[in-house]
Amino acid sequence: MKVCIVCEKTIEGKWIRADRKFCGEICSKKYKQKVYRSLNPPLNLTTGMVGCLHELEVTCDLIKRGFHVYRAVSGNSDCNLAIVKDNKLIRVEVTTGRYEPKEGKYFYPHHDESKYDLLAIIFYDGKIIYKPEI
Ligand SMILES: [Zn+2]
Repeated sequence: MKVCIVCEKTIEGKWIRADRKFCGEICSKKYKQKVYRSLNPPLNLTTGMVGCLHELEVTCDLIKRGFHVYRAVSGNSDCNLAIVKDNKLIRVEVTTGRYEPKEGKYFYPHHDESKYDLLAIIFYDGKIIYKPEI
């Protein structure tokens, strides 16, 4: 007898297949939400504060990598940061990434590619992915 890993009810009918862990769609969804939340724990901050924090975290990472980092002075700028590499100014856009429950997968909001040269995707666990790699 197989038991649902969410509600602990016996799995019946079409859900009984060997690889099933849930009694139905509702528990399957609940589980995915739980995994998603554990991978992307909410920070209890406003969106603006999260954006600011992530910009600062990316700034620190870029400084550690040896870059001089420039920051947009006015709000609503085309990109958040800029760095100089090989005497060239590189526009940096910082965005928040989120992990998907499927291992290794993530997503992030779309940004206008004409307005940045380097995209820094920062996750709630502090991991940063640069596109392209630097
Ligand atoms: Zn269940």
